[in-house]
Amino acid sequence: MERVPPSQLWHHLAEEDVFNALQSNHHEGLSTNEVAERLRLFGPNSISTQKPMSPLKRFLLQFHNPLIYILLVATAVTFFLQEYIDSAVIFAVVFINAIIGYLQESKAEEAINSLRKMLSAKARVLRDGRRQYVPTTDLVPGDIVVLTSGDKVPADLRLFDNRDLQIDESALTGESVAVQKERAKLDKDVVLADRVNMAFAGTLVTYGQAEGVVIATGDDTETGKIADMITQAVSLETPLTQKIQAFSKVLLWVILGLAALTFVVGLLRGQDWIDTFMAAVALSVAAIPEGLPAVVTITLAIGVRRMAIRNAIVRKLPAVETLGSTTIICSDKTGTLTENQMTVQRVFAGGEAFHITGSGYQPEGGLLNANEAALSPLPEALRQCLRNGMLCNDSELIQKEGLWQVQGDPTEGALLAAASKAGFSTTDLQREYARLDVIPFESDRQYMATLHQSEGHNLIVVKGSMERVVARCHDMLAPDGSSMALDEHRIIEQAEQFASLGLRVLAIAQQTVPIAETDLTRFNKEESTRQLTLVGLQAMIDPPRAEAIQAVATCQKAGIAVKMITGDHALTARAIAEQIGIARANQDGTAHTVLTGSELATMSDHELLREVERVAVFARVAPEQKLKLVTALQAKGHVVAMTGDGVNDAPALKKANIGIAMGIAGTEVAKEAADMVLTDDNFATIEGAVEEGRNVFDNLVKFITWILPTNLGQGLVIMVAILLGATLPVLPVQALWLNMTTAVFLGLMLAFEPKEQGLMARAPRDPDTPILTREMLGRILSVSTLLLVGAFSLFQWALAQGESEPVARTLAVTLFVVVQSVFLLNCRSLRSSLFHMPMFSNRWIWVGMAAMLLAQLAYIYTPTMNLLFQSAPLALAHWGVMLAYGLVVLLLVEGEKWLWRRFAQAA
Ligand code: ADP
Ligand code: MG
Repeated sequence: MERVPPSQLWHHLAEEDVFNALQSNHHEGLSTNEVAERLRLFGPNSISTQKPMSPLKRFLLQFHNPLIYILLVATAVTFFLQEYIDSAVIFAVVFINAIIGYLQESKAEEAINSLRKMLSAKARVLRDGRRQYVPTTDLVPGDIVVLTSGDKVPADLRLFDNRDLQIDESALTGESVAVQKERAKLDKDVVLADRVNMAFAGTLVTYGQAEGVVIATGDDTETGKIADMITQAVSLETPLTQKIQAFSKVLLWVILGLAALTFVVGLLRGQDWIDTFMAAVALSVAAIPEGLPAVVTITLAIGVRRMAIRNAIVRKLPAVETLGSTTIICSDKTGTLTENQMTVQRVFAGGEAFHITGSGYQPEGGLLNANEAALSPLPEALRQCLRNGMLCNDSELIQKEGLWQVQGDPTEGALLAAASKAGFSTTDLQREYARLDVIPFESDRQYMATLHQSEGHNLIVVKGSMERVVARCHDMLAPDGSSMALDEHRIIEQAEQFASLGLRVLAIAQQTVPIAETDLTRFNKEESTRQLTLVGLQAMIDPPRAEAIQAVATCQKAGIAVKMITGDHALTARAIAEQIGIARANQDGTAHTVLTGSELATMSDHELLREVERVAVFARVAPEQKLKLVTALQAKGHVVAMTGDGVNDAPALKKANIGIAMGIAGTEVAKEAADMVLTDDNFATIEGAVEEGRNVFDNLVKFITWILPTNLGQGLVIMVAILLGATLPVLPVQALWLNMTTAVFLGLMLAFEPKEQGLMARAPRDPDTPILTREMLGRILSVSTLLLVGAFSLFQWALAQGESEPVARTLAVTLFVVVQSVFLLNCRSLRSSLFHMPMFSNRWIWVGMAAMLLAQLAYIYTPTMNLLFQSAPLALAHWGVMLAYGLVVLLLVEGEKWLWRRFAQAA
């Protein structure tokens, strides 16, 4: 095989020519060796992405900020005034600030980017004659790929086995209507959008099934050729960051306006223009919270990382915030609330119920009659029931490290295990009953059908929900395999009895048809005729996840309602919901806790709005109905998290405030639509993510409450000095020092605060309430005032004592550092007492404070810093005064918190 496959008009070739050109085989696929060889030749199947932006450009962008412009002007002005040290310091600070900003930004971006790699996609291929899942990056030209609805097409394919395949190609062609694919050879000059016998990488399978052979991978694919279309840049924007950006912008212009005013007024008063200019610069530097946007982004990124550690991969950053406000979680049952470890325990066939023993997918266990006695030989109806479960099946059991596991659908795995216990084997059955056609299982349809060759006739086998299958039956199998009248009542009763034990029930039916009937087209069309013979029921257990029970309880305590949404039978769903604690919690006597899809379909929007909050379990729900549920719940003012895995779940996932896709069982389409993906498909992970979301928000508010007084306090000190015509207590370079060091060493550490006690005992945050409540605004103002009073009077007092200006200024600056350090401790909790918090639960706080202390000691006592920042050594007595003042602030804020706890419990 050559490196570049002959640039063929693949759509124009006959099928065998395609396989010849690619040296591949329809029935076997490529061999492992051949794949390795080709992988070396063609490289991995991934599109090389260009760097979103060059590092240099990103670095330079850090300077694109009005405050920086002012500082650059200040650098120039001081330079021309031959204040070389000031000039150099200001410039150095600007430069260091840009480096820090750059590093923080790329770290945050990296954190979010690396999550993508955790979501690597898999493709189903035929290799060495076996179907298997491989990472999509391992695909090579010539590989045979199986596509099913919900898949993202992993490479460019020429289709050769096509069952009603429909593909959404909007990513490539912009055409939003799904394209119906075909198999036939096409004309040479058909345009890309009309090449219906091809499937293109990156497009989404919305319906049907097909097989195709890979004709191009990676950058050779049609999508790869227009790679700049897919920008890989992640957006770090969320509603919150946007709000903060808007706020910062307004603040910036207000402060710049004030600074300009200061300058003009100073000049009019006839003051020296250089002093006035420096005062204006000092004011802008001091009052603008430069660190704010960066720390917000970092805090969000830390939240994203913590969620990832707990198996929740955030795809869209705003989800981190929204999670904390979630009021309702609508969860799938199967696999999310339950283990998705299915084992058939009961079978009903020929009018008789049987037990099957054994656990997991191990093909070991016995078949017993109702009296627990072993059966031999097996009644014919039971045999056929088990056999059909294996025939009408797309999954496989494999043994990995001694453990039997399913490849495919666990429901089908359970049927395979049950049939094995009766001695059936897949290979034998495949030989005896070669498959001619299939209608794959879809949740909407609730059944799967296959057509097989048999002796002298063909055989249709159907399995699916009891309601759907029984509705198409006209007789049933007698114990000996002959036909008897269908006792529908008895069947339903039996199925409901199984279901109320929490078992998932599948009905199995069959029909013999003439050999001439070689596909399921007729069967598919005659939906409403009764032609099948009911063979039996198989009922399987799927135990609830222990963690889910716990997590549901936690959610309920946290004011979050949990609702179960499932395609399963109402009684199965209710039994499981009761075991998990979902149904019980909503039972208030009158409420009916279970609503079925058919009831839902007949309800008016008005009725639904009245009922929707009271219902805890939605059973036999079609995926499309999930959208209706989300809409109704949102109309009730809820913030809704909704899980999903199939193609048809995508609209509901998009509509939900938080769409959550399953990482294991989910289709690519669902993942693409989701805000978050669970790598373990586990409900408990959602609860964990909510917890982290609440914590992130908490920490953001803590940080904002902490940082604003630094700026407001300094701004006030400088304004007051200017108004009084007094000496400036803080110089521009000193304000730069203060803002940079405290933000990095102190404020940032709040992002690492672990979740507070009682985090999940609070009600969800109302997304409409402002970020800063009146309580926080009050605290910001009072701490700013304390800073103003402390710094200004300390400065004046020092001057009155005959201290030099550098000493007085060092006192003012150090007082800020001291007060912001103790206030940092206050801010570890906005409401709870600092004295009741574990001291070292966030060791970063202490690391940061130690670093801050060292830096400030250097600022005060080293000659170099004294020269650079015009600081001066302080006496021990000075420290005494400052620490005493710090203690006062600490106690005052704790006292204020106590008052809020005491008198505003409910608020
Ligand atoms: P859930 O939302 O709980 O996963 P599904 O929509 O997958 O429910 O299943 C709904 C019903 O369809 C089940 O109760 C079962 O009777 C039937 N069913 C489930 N999986 C299959 C399958 N692979 N083949 C045929 N029928 C199935
Ligand atoms: Mg399912």
